[in-house]
Amino acid sequence: MMNRDLLRKLPKVDELLQEEIVKKELNNTMRTLVVETLRQTIDTYRNLILKDKISELSKEDMLKTFSEHIKKNNSPKLRKVINATGTVVHTNLGRSLLSKSAVDAVVNVAENYNNLEYDIDKGKRGLRYSHIEDLIKKITGAESAMVVNNNAAAVMLVLNTLCSEKEAIVSRGQLVEIGGSFRVPDVMSFSGAKLVEVGTTNRTHLYDYENNINENTGVLLKVHTSNFKIMGFTEEVSIEDLVELGKKHSIPTYEDIGSGVLVDYSKYGFVYEPTVQESLKRGIDVVTFSGDKMLGGPQAGVIVGKKEYIDKMKKNQLTRALRVDKMTLAALEATLKYYLDEKEAIDNIPTLNMILNSKENIKRKANKLKRRLSNKVKNFEFKIESDYSMVGGGAMPTERLDTYVIKVKSYELSPEEIECKLRMNDTPIVVRIYNNEVIMDLRTLFEKDFDIIVNAFQNLK
Ligand SMILES: *Cc1c(COP(=O)(O)O)cnc(C)c1O
Repeated sequence: MMNRDLLRKLPKVDELLQEEIVKKELNNTMRTLVVETLRQTIDTYRNLILKDKISELSKEDMLKTFSEHIKKNNSPKLRKVINATGTVVHTNLGRSLLSKSAVDAVVNVAENYNNLEYDIDKGKRGLRYSHIEDLIKKITGAESAMVVNNNAAAVMLVLNTLCSEKEAIVSRGQLVEIGGSFRVPDVMSFSGAKLVEVGTTNRTHLYDYENNINENTGVLLKVHTSNFKIMGFTEEVSIEDLVELGKKHSIPTYEDIGSGVLVDYSKYGFVYEPTVQESLKRGIDVVTFSGDKMLGGPQAGVIVGKKEYIDKMKKNQLTRALRVDKMTLAALEATLKYYLDEKEAIDNIPTLNMILNSKENIKRKANKLKRRLSNKVKNFEFKIESDYSMVGGGAMPTERLDTYVIKVKSYELSPEEIECKLRMNDTPIVVRIYNNEVIMDLRTLFEKDFDIIVNAFQNLK
């Protein structure tokens, strides 16, 4: 049949609206969306005709296409994915997962009115920061605390408050760029602080700081280089020396510690990663960190330290623009509560739980998934091997966590094809390819998702 005849046969929206399958869809989908999807379907077929891709028009096919389109159009754009990369704090995949109690807390304040800015005891207006301040103080040992939208906002607020139009002295080796192009120097210049870089990339001495102090110095800044390590011939000024220098010249010291580590991981066999508590104990005046990296909570920036400085930040007009939402506060409070007892934190906060998960436990999961895949999926070979996973989120860059992975081999599909098809699954599954092999790391996989994974492989063609 000629193109033109086929085009003329294309059904109209009204005609398709009479089809059973479309009528049924109207029961659970907005009419606007159904109509739009019918247009999209007709367009799809018009293009197929124009490109000579089809020689016949089948209404059955069109309705099938409609069903596929509507399923896609109905599903949220921001949605669940399965993280088989083994990277626990995966910045592209939403960083930390919330614990059950944090999720419940979010739902509770989202569905109901709440005392976000209301002091129930006094019956008067209250402060949104008050709900969480005591808890943060108790856990970190800080004199005072507040929370903003994220750690980038925290850095901005601290510098704007303590160092606007003034100089912040920082070691050249700490001027880092963090994933998603957060560059410490850029954020600093937005804050109005003037950056004074001292030392060299690998070595900075106390005298480098001291020689640059003048009447216009606002803060002595230390940035934790969380996503890389400079090895070999290096020297950093110790926190103690920096604090002493600050005291001597009455200049506040500020550390952007990045990842919000509140547990000493060296107890569990990791390299020592500086904790927030330790920095405060050593005398740093202000420390900032993320809520959704190693802390394992919602996106947030936590600022802790001396009351005189934090009070100034609370009064800064910028705080209004960087303020934290009630759902974040609810999730953060529920997450932080676990830190009152370290064991509870490790057992209940998914990020900590996954980082500290035992090798045996991961192997047990690997065996379980492999057994199910081997039983149900033909034409693939699944094999368990030991490997390493990463913490991610720019935290602990040199730490290799012992793990078990399932390596997938197919005689028909290339690793790239498997990766792509798994990614295009209804619930996308994100895997790694390494040495021409598809790898699924069991560290970040949950048993509740095994059905989805097995199903996805059954549908791989
Ligand atoms: C991650 C990180 C930031 C940015 O924190 P966000 O919470 O992502 O805004 C800033 N500084 C350091 C050192 C970091 O590691």
